[in-house]
Amino acid sequence: MTTRGTLALHSAWLATVAVIVTFSLAFASVRCGGDGGDGGDGGVIEPPRPRPAGTLRLTVFELPAHGLAVAIETPSGALHFVDTGPKSDDGHAAKELLAPFVRARASPAIASIVISHPHRDHFEGARHLLKQFEVGAFVDAGMQGALVAGDYVDLKKTADNRGAVLREVRAGDVLDWDPALEVSILAPPRAGVISTEKNFLNDHSIVLRIQHGKNVFLLPGDIERAGSESLLAAVPADRLRATVLIAPHHGFFEERAFAGAVKPQHVVVSCQAEYDDKEPRSPGDLARSLFEPVGAAVWVTAWHGAVTITSDGEVCAVTTARVRR
Ligand SMILES: [Zn+2]
Repeated sequence: MTTRGTLALHSAWLATVAVIVTFSLAFASVRCGGDGGDGGDGGVIEPPRPRPAGTLRLTVFELPAHGLAVAIETPSGALHFVDTGPKSDDGHAAKELLAPFVRARASPAIASIVISHPHRDHFEGARHLLKQFEVGAFVDAGMQGALVAGDYVDLKKTADNRGAVLREVRAGDVLDWDPALEVSILAPPRAGVISTEKNFLNDHSIVLRIQHGKNVFLLPGDIERAGSESLLAAVPADRLRATVLIAPHHGFFEERAFAGAVKPQHVVVSCQAEYDDKEPRSPGDLARSLFEPVGAAVWVTAWHGAVTITSDGEVCAVTTARVRR
């Protein structure tokens, strides 16, 4: 289903080289708004660098199978995860990527794990992290009912037993992550979204908005049409505009009104290169067709490897594990 090889198991943090794809080496001189996400031609290879003090850094992992996992390091140094990737025959995201990432930090603790919605490609890595590390809080939207897998219910019990604070959030709530950040929950609304049963959990994903100075990061989970229409109706336009957007639903998303409202400078797509059972087969190409017309550079984990975005509140820089193959 994918064309990925051993490089798929690398994160930018563990690779011996990092490829700075589009921007100059001087972080302070790099402005959000790249000149395209196709990896460029003249990438510069240099060793991975430590996070500059006081910066916000998001790492979108290149996963061994379909899923999403984002590590967020706050300006004061706390580590949060939004989703934790899958566990499948193709690999175990948490064991192979996320746990080594945590251990490589000066303080191997996790302030919180946010699960956007209880689908396996988002929550299955959490159990391993809860077993391996101290986790301060486990945050979700409190979805219940027959659509929620039994092992997700068990996962929350494990989080509770391990001492994590369980917190359920809905639109209007805020997360107290760091004095330098404003972290807001934009969705799902307390009253819920009118959605199909098939898309119900996706459309009730937590939509997280992180503001660091002038830079806004939007993480919308797997919202589809109903979730995006609900957001557009409920959230003021200036709260939807974002510097960096994690592509909804791994790039399988075609809502032009949403793309125009968010108008991101960068879009990061966490996906496999191709899907045999989807049309179009490549969510990366689909995301380019949706977001490039509104001015975004599109970065795709299946093409670029792990994608890292660093913000100092004024400007931000994008680095990727490799240039596009
Ligand atoms: Zn998903």
